[in-house]
Amino acid sequence: MKHLLVTNDYPPKIGGIQSLLWEWWRRLPADKFAVLTSPYEGTAEFDAGEPYRIERTREPVLLPHPWMVKRINDLADDVGADLVVLDPAVPLGLVGPSLKLPYDLVLHGAEVTVPGRLPGSKQALAYTLRRARGIIAAGSYPAAEAEHAAGRELPTTIVPCGVDPDRFTVLSDSQRAEAREHFGIPNDAEVIIGISRLVPRKGFDTAIRAVNRLKHRRPDLLLVIGGTGRESERLQRLADELDAPVKFMGRIENDDLPRFYGCGDLYTMLCRNRWGGLEQEGFGIVFIEAASCGIPQVAGDSGGAAEAVAHGETGLVISEPENVQDVADAYEQLLDDDELRRSMAIRSRERVETDFAYDVLAKRLGDALGVYD
Ligand code: GDP
Repeated sequence: MKHLLVTNDYPPKIGGIQSLLWEWWRRLPADKFAVLTSPYEGTAEFDAGEPYRIERTREPVLLPHPWMVKRINDLADDVGADLVVLDPAVPLGLVGPSLKLPYDLVLHGAEVTVPGRLPGSKQALAYTLRRARGIIAAGSYPAAEAEHAAGRELPTTIVPCGVDPDRFTVLSDSQRAEAREHFGIPNDAEVIIGISRLVPRKGFDTAIRAVNRLKHRRPDLLLVIGGTGRESERLQRLADELDAPVKFMGRIENDDLPRFYGCGDLYTMLCRNRWGGLEQEGFGIVFIEAASCGIPQVAGDSGGAAEAVAHGETGLVISEPENVQDVADAYEQLLDDDELRRSMAIRSRERVETDFAYDVLAKRLGDALGVYD
């Protein structure tokens, strides 16, 4: 079977969903699909380097207009597709029921949670979900949200966010020492790494308060935060006011990302629910990236985070992620137990290879889309 993927989010545009889709689709047989997506700087060079057909719309955002329906129908005809795959489900996916061909929807998280809980958009989403041939959900959390919105079971395939285990690797002791030197992190420090967009949901204020609580007992403890976002300044002020052991790195270069994780004894991101659950962590690919580098993870229980982190196996999931003492206790429990950290590191890496490697996930996606039929 051949399909047309229609999405707003495809490289060279940068972002989590963009790179996820690319990591999935570039592993499918190139003659079994084509892509319709939005324009962006540098697309000519990117598109020329991909072995499958990519068409770009003239308008900057793909929206569910009647002419979008025509554009999709015409292109699907032209490429000989049997199926259209729409991402995201809202708003673009709302064209689904008007298309000539059957359609699948790709779901990530927030785009189903929010409209699924607001009157008005809920009906449109429910109708679109119920009419879909299949649902590709990037985790059990969006899958459950979609069934909640549709009011019934859906034909869902779960393809979680993944990682490339050949890129995010475990560092040897000497590589780790070099990496720490590169980032200006003392080699004898107890290092908790956090990297993420710095927004309130990611809970770095709690991580700062927790290391602050431990600083007298653990003078070598250091929380190293990478990434940028609208919380950057507030978090720096908080760390300064408390005189907490925190180092801010700003944005980490892409090529540096794996060895940045590799500097850590632990990885942490205490994601939390906001606005009564309307805002939750979609999945938390950062936990899988850390796991692939063999770094145990301490996560907040929000959205898909408890799926990304296997509690007690690859790390700890804190059920009340704003409870500073619970977080400090979790950090101490892991930092005090070298054996536990070692076994979590091994289990993290094994789980990545069997459950979260892109090659494994792309095969599951390809099966769901019938590209091997
Ligand atoms: P989301 O932003 O809410 O989707 O959070 P996720 O945890 O799902 O994804 C964040 C992605 O952005 C991960 O792949 C991170 O590695 C990446 N990321 C966050 N901050 C930085 C940074 O400073 N540099 C780089 N290179 N990647 C980052």
